[in-house]
Parts: sequence; structure tokens; C-alpha cells
Amino acid sequence: MDEVLRVENLHKRFGLLHVLRGIDLSVHKGETIVILGASGSGKSTLLRCLNFLEMPSEGRITIEGRLVGRETGTPGVMSYGTRELNALRARVGMVFQQFNLFPHMTVEGNVMIGPMKLRGMTEETARTLAHDNLRRVGILEKAREYPARLSGGQQQRVAIARALAMEPTMMLFDEATSALDPELVGEVLLSMRRLSEEGMTMLVVTHELGFAYNVADRVIFLEGGMVHEEGTPQEVLQNPKQERTREFLRSHT
Ligand code: ADP
Ligand code: MG
Repeated sequence: MDEVLRVENLHKRFGLLHVLRGIDLSVHKGETIVILGASGSGKSTLLRCLNFLEMPSEGRITIEGRLVGRETGTPGVMSYGTRELNALRARVGMVFQQFNLFPHMTVEGNVMIGPMKLRGMTEETARTLAHDNLRRVGILEKAREYPARLSGGQQQRVAIARALAMEPTMMLFDEATSALDPELVGEVLLSMRRLSEEGMTMLVVTHELGFAYNVADRVIFLEGGMVHEEGTPQEVLQNPKQERTREFLRSHT
């Protein structure tokens, strides 16, 4: 089964504000998709719905072939069980702009806590897994340090390792480098690129067009909560069909 994620006619409303207005998306195993769009176009809301940090107002989300939630009487509206969502959140890793590491725990402690608490792993197994994932993002040598002793770029790589330690089926990145000093952006993008090359399935919201161009299999341009344009990086970045995409690209280069 090759399709990791399918999104059908996803809508999200906050009261009267209709933020996502019918998103369709299919993501295959190993794909890296970059999502571009102006501020307020609904990028974060889309990722948050995929991880059920926000409940979709309408639409169907299928993860690894399993439809999430149950149909209600109202067409398109689903209801979700807490247990189901907790299991699912463990399968979908997310990395935010703010790293939110626990300051009172060591780097390895931060990576071990999820597998121990949520997956019932022993401390020993969790430590091995943590070290494997810290190595994956090139920061194993900081395992015993506290987050405050690390640079922002290093902290963000720990946050990536923490998400990876849950052995997710896909990873979501929401402007993971936007809070970093410019000189620290590259190391985080490089870790993300390596992950993509390892075959991780990834949805990446970023304004880093170089990353989109070099790493993405597909680029999606969101506008007003809808997919306004979609294609290969060459198509969308070099030869955009839509005026709104061109305007966005002009303001970001
Ligand atoms: P982006 O990530 O593309 O900048 P967002 O998904 O964060 O966009 O926001 C899209 C729109 O939804 C914005 O108008 C924002 O103010 C609104 N919004 C986001 N989250 C909430 C919320 N929890 N409550 C009300 N409005 C929200
Ligand atoms: Mg956002």
C-alpha cells in the first residue's frame, strides 16, 4: 500500500472564518511535498488537521489506508474518538517553528520520553532508539547536554529526533527554520534533506525555495485555503501558471 495519506474535500472553519475550503491531497510513501503560500493561507491549519491538533470541520482523512473517524449523520462530517486520535498522533510526527524541548531534561531524555510514556518502551530500549535518531540528525554528541546549552539549530534537530523516535509513518514540518538565526538554517535543512533522501514521507511548510526546488517531489501552492497550483518544483517554481503564485515567488526571492 503505497498511499500514506489521502485527504478528501477537507474544510476547516473557526466560527465564521472558513480557513480550509476543500483540500484534496494524496501523498505516497517516500514523497516529500513542500507547501507554499502567503501568511494566512491556511498552511499551519492544514498540517494541524492532518495531526488532529485541529479537528476538521468536514472531509475525510485516510492514513495508511485507514479512514480516520466515523461518519456522522451529516454528509462529510466525521466524529473522532480520543483513543483513535492519540494512536494516530503517535504515527504522524510534527516539528514546529518553536522546538518546545523540556528544559529540565537532557537531550536524550527529551527524545526518550515519548517512546517510554506512549509506547511502553524500557529505558534501555528508548535510550538506544534515542541515540540512533540523534545520530540521524548529526547531534549524538550532545545526548547528555541540556537544551539551553544548544544553539537553536541544534535544538531543532533534537526536536526532529524526538519526533523520529516515535517511528512515524510521516513527518510534518511547519516552518521548522523560521525562528532560527540565518546561519543556523542550513544545518536543519540538511537534516531534513537527509531524511527525505532516506525515504521518509514528508509534508514541509517552508519559505525556503531552495529546499523546495532541490528536495521536493511536488510543490503545492495554497491560496485562500485551497490548492491554487500544484506540480513539480520546476513547474511551480520556474514556470508557474497562476498569477498569484508568480506574485508570491516574486516576493520571496
Ligand atoms: P498560515 O500558516 O498559512 O499562515 P494559518 O493556518 O495559521 O495560516 O491561518 C489561516 C487563517 O486561520 C488565519 O486567518 C488565522 O488567523 C486563522 N486561524 C488559525 N488558527 C485559528 C484559531 N485557532 N482560531 C481562529 N482563527 C484561526
Ligand atoms: Mg503558519
